[in-house]
Amino acid sequence: RAKVEGPGACIPYRHELHLRAMERNSIERDLRVALAQRQFVLFYQPKVDINTGRINGAEALIRWQHPERGLISPDVFIPVAERCGFISEVSKWVLDEACRQNSAWQAAGLPKIGIAVNVSAVDLRRPDLTDIVANTLVRHALSPQYLELEVTESMVMRDVDTVIGTLRRLRSLGVGIGIDDFGTGYSSLAYLKRFPVKRLKIDRSFVRDIADLRDGKVIPKVIIDLAHSLSVNVLAEGVEDAAQLEILRSLGCDEAQGYFLGRPMPAMEFELFLRHAPNGLHPDAAIRHAV
Ligand code: C2E
Ligand code: MG
Ligand code: MG
Ligand code: MG
Repeated sequence: RAKVEGPGACIPYRHELHLRAMERNSIERDLRVALAQRQFVLFYQPKVDINTGRINGAEALIRWQHPERGLISPDVFIPVAERCGFISEVSKWVLDEACRQNSAWQAAGLPKIGIAVNVSAVDLRRPDLTDIVANTLVRHALSPQYLELEVTESMVMRDVDTVIGTLRRLRSLGVGIGIDDFGTGYSSLAYLKRFPVKRLKIDRSFVRDIADLRDGKVIPKVIIDLAHSLSVNVLAEGVEDAAQLEILRSLGCDEAQGYFLGRPMPAMEFELFLRHAPNGLHPDAAIRHAV
């Protein structure tokens, strides 16, 4: 397709580009009505203590219930929202909804858990991010210890001094900071020490290979030891089976998240999951025994 053989040869390629641009435009246009029409929804995925099976928290993950296209993944629309300047509105909604929901669960007497919200690079550069977070916590009477913000390595490595300032203000509010997809970005170990971080999340690409490759354990082990030497909690993302969980446990990993421990689920379903967790332990006996 890249070969140019004549005037007509480029048409399929051009056509494809055009379609993609159209798709982006239509997503962009639809995004503007999505908030007003309440088309966004948060799913919640459990974070589990690897040694006890206790449910320590949940990550809030946005989905877009599009009236014609069905459920759209954040990997599709978040980048578009970032580019068209709409992300701040989306992020405010996510933060508000996650805090509202967590506060409602606590009021209903469910085990108290922390909720993690993903923050985009654009949000992190807003000088008023700390104020927005503080106001949201007050609005829902949620104690800051029950909120965590997830940022990626590449986000914090750009403009380090500004970001450290923002993260420190958030930390002094009492909100936790987690570094997402750890190991995939360009992180500097020297900077890592300066970040007020509570948790490193090992990217799921390292977890995927952990049981298969002869040296699949090397990087997870390095990250786990690094986290512990910095007195930071470490969580493995994307745990899909018992073998991966067992290896991570043997390497000293603190927490795990992944389809094996629970898929991202709608609020109602997550609430049942939490309710049926005896003493806050994972409701699935197989998982309680695996950990
Ligand atoms: P992330 O924060 O790293 O979230 C983890 C992603 O891995 C989620 O995809 C989750 O559904 C998926 N996952 C969890 N366990 C497993 C597993 O065992 N196996 C596999 N294969 N995948 C697993 P999701 O929900 O599609 O989100 C994708 C990304 O979109 C997130 O990556 C995050 O960067 C972004 N995102 C999601 N929600 C929000 C949001 O509210 N705001 C912003 N700014 N970004 C968001
Ligand atoms: Mg995340
Ligand atoms: Mg991640
Ligand atoms: Mg990710």
